[in-house]
Amino acid sequence: MVAIASGKGGVGKSTTAINLALSLAQDHYRVGILDADIYGPNQPHMLGHIEKPVLREDHRFDPVIRYGLQTMSMGYLVTDETPMVWRGPMVIKALQQMLYHTAWDNLDYLIIDMPPGTGDIPLTLSQSVAMTAAIIVTTPQKLSFVDVVKGIQMFDTMRVPTVAVIENMSYFICGHCQEKHYLYGKGALQSLTGEFGFKTAYEIPIDQSVSPHGDAGIPIVIAEPESSISRLFQELTDGIVREISRIQYDSQDKPVLRYIKGEGFRLKTSDGVVAIEPFALREHCRCAICVDEWTGETRFKKQILSSDYAPLDIKTIGNYAIGINWNDGHSSLYPYDTLFKLAG
Ligand code: ADP
Repeated sequence: MVAIASGKGGVGKSTTAINLALSLAQDHYRVGILDADIYGPNQPHMLGHIEKPVLREDHRFDPVIRYGLQTMSMGYLVTDETPMVWRGPMVIKALQQMLYHTAWDNLDYLIIDMPPGTGDIPLTLSQSVAMTAAIIVTTPQKLSFVDVVKGIQMFDTMRVPTVAVIENMSYFICGHCQEKHYLYGKGALQSLTGEFGFKTAYEIPIDQSVSPHGDAGIPIVIAEPESSISRLFQELTDGIVREISRIQYDSQDKPVLRYIKGEGFRLKTSDGVVAIEPFALREHCRCAICVDEWTGETRFKKQILSSDYAPLDIKTIGNYAIGINWNDGHSSLYPYDTLFKLAG
């Protein structure tokens, strides 16, 4: 699951999400796209399709197939007349339903076109879905830089690595002199790559053929696959595929531990996800305070812990363990081997 996010609307997030998804499909991956931009679900329009998806007997929707993509959007389910006065919890519920009640068919990639910004909705969405990576789309103005940093930080909090930043409408190529003109100045993308160490940062030009094709429901990589902008989208797609494979390869055999307030831990390994209570995890702490050095028996007593026992923070320690600082002041270190055992 790859989130495409932006600090604000109108920067070309949906355009990028669609063209990226289509470039992946052109590379023969099985690709879905979820239009989670619930306030402005414009993907049906951009993909030239406004028919309603079919509700199946198992109460799930079949995704709408467009240009080989499996697509789902709130735009399929509401009309122009439907009031979009959604409130936070309703929006999240609608998004979760779209995600989990769509009969996605054996996907390699699910591209999630996120709602813009770093407010409650994108935050809760990134919390409730196990995303593999995020891509941030921005424009070259200085102010956008701040939005990008906020976006990266939001995904960082969720432990979702931002694998690429795309500066859209970065420059303009003059039809007469063929020179690149950086209308808003140059350099913001370089500072971002320097600060955050991205390998995948792209500049996409402002191009007069993008908008009319988008409006006609034929995205540019379909309408003009050989154009220079389509080739840029393909290049960007290759870079993103590389970065995501790297994450998956690097994280292979590494357990991931998350804490969900009120629910407990979720321990994810390559075999799946298991739920673990804070008490149960603390019981496995093998530090000198918790374990009798001579007998190896645990000295830890569950009774001493209050019912709101929880971690204050969870950290990866080197390449071998996960450390937890608990809210009673205790610190535990869990080597990956211990976590694999706990995961069964
Ligand atoms: P967002 O999802 O961030 O709100 P959209 O993808 O809907 O933004 O794009 C906003 C408008 O900008 C659309 O009309 C789109 O066709 C146009 N657009 C996006 N990227 C480009 C580009 N590189 N060149 C020209 N027009 C673009």
